[in-house]
Parts: sequence; C-alpha cells; structure tokens
Amino acid sequence: MTDSYWTIETAAATDRGRRRAENEDAYFCDASIGIFMVADGMGGANAGEVASAMSVDKFVGFLEPFLGDEDATIPFELQENEDSRTTVLMQAALSANSAVYEKANEDPDHRGMGSTLTAAIVFHNDLYITHIGDSRCYRIRTDTIDQITADHSKVQEMVSQGLLTEEAARSHPQRNIITRCIGRKKKLKPDIFTIDFDLADTFLLCSDGLNDMVPDDVIHRIVTESLDLEIAATRLVNAANDRGGRDNITVVLLRFVPESTETIDTYGDQDQEN
Ligand code: CA
Repeated sequence: MTDSYWTIETAAATDRGRRRAENEDAYFCDASIGIFMVADGMGGANAGEVASAMSVDKFVGFLEPFLGDEDATIPFELQENEDSRTTVLMQAALSANSAVYEKANEDPDHRGMGSTLTAAIVFHNDLYITHIGDSRCYRIRTDTIDQITADHSKVQEMVSQGLLTEEAARSHPQRNIITRCIGRKKKLKPDIFTIDFDLADTFLLCSDGLNDMVPDDVIHRIVTESLDLEIAATRLVNAANDRGGRDNITVVLLRFVPESTETIDTYGDQDQEN
C-alpha cells in the first residue's frame, strides 16, 4: 500500500439496539492494514457473542501476515482456477469456521452458535470482498447506492427465484433465516470477489439490524450528506434505533480519498487553529 496514491478514511459504530439485551455483533476496522469486517453472531446464552468475536479474531489473525507483503509464501496449495489472494481469503474464512465449529461442538453452552462474516480487504491495491451470511456490503457514490453482496438467506433465494419481491422480503416472517454462516457446518462456501472502486467511493459494511430498519435510499442520503464518516456512522445507528432498533446494529464505513487532498486539508486545519 506504500505506493498507493489514495488513503482510507474509516469509522465504525455498534449498538445493542432497542429490543435486545445483548450486543452479539462484532466488527474490525483498521485502515493501516486494510481489513474491515462485520460479524453478526447467533446462538443462545451469549454464544452468539462468542461466535462473532471468534470469527473476527481468526479471520483477521490469519490474514494479517499476508497483506503487507506481496511475496509472502503461501503455506498451502492453490486450488484450481484460484489466484493466491482468493486462496488466502478462503483459508482465512475456513480458519474462522473451524474455530467456531469446534467450539460449538465441544461445549454444550455454545452448541449451534454461528456468525455472519462480511469483510472488505485491501489486498495490494485491489479491494476484495469475503462474504458469508446476511450482513451486507454497499458501495455508495454521490448518486447511487449498490448492494454488492447477496444475502445468504431464505428470502433472498425466494427473491432470486422470482417468488418474492424485494419489498415483500423486507417484512417476510422468515427474513432472518440464513442459509450459510460461519460455524454451523464443516464445509464453507463463502463468496470471494474483487470490486472496482474510484476515489471518493464509500463502502458500508453492516449487520442486518441496520438494513432491516433503514431503507437503502435513507442510508444513501445519510452517508452522502454527513460531514464525515464518524458522523455518518452515528447517524446510521440512530436512524435504525429511531425506526425501532429491533436488532443489534453495526456499521463500518471506509472511503478512498486522494492522499494529496488530505495533506492540504490537514494544513488548512492547522492554519485555522493558529
Ligand atoms: Ca442481526
């Protein structure tokens, strides 16, 4: 990332919401290593909290050594038709999956626990998405908001098959049933892909406690009208709570900004302060 001409601004917020006793979401964001992630845990008696925290720890811990070093040795065989970065991301997701799966099976208190995993990773100047479950990634531009992950959920399958409209899916009684997640099965089928970005693009990772409560056009308006990402993150959480806050709410925002502009802004701020 040293030769990149952009830098990344980031902000995150998480909140229990208005109805749940605990916050079982977890997140990670560190622009210096280029990993951004949301994990939405599930399972009784706080097991969801364990599953989401473990997913973050294992995924990030596995990935970190590979991100700064283009020549890092890959300690496993590449799968057919896979590039080495996709393989690293797959192995990182698998390491999270095995850890949660084993913990769930050895400890009765944690039986059945699981977690979503939606991550944006800056891998040698390319942006990769790794995604399992129904947390989301959106790309937000001045005039558009695009959901770039597809929910691994029963209602999304019905929408894809033309059995349900997007609108009906939002209030469907089965909208919380997910079809893939970290920790429930030994096998894992994450979506891993690269996504184009331009300078000034903002990416939002969120748990369903945001997008179940707040329509996409309102999310878009909040992000584009907020003065900075910290304010946007707070306002997104508030918007979900204002609409009922039925679930835990987590948002992670990242924006690609030109390096030179940031330098000028910094000097400008200092001048004002003096
Ligand atoms: Ca949730």
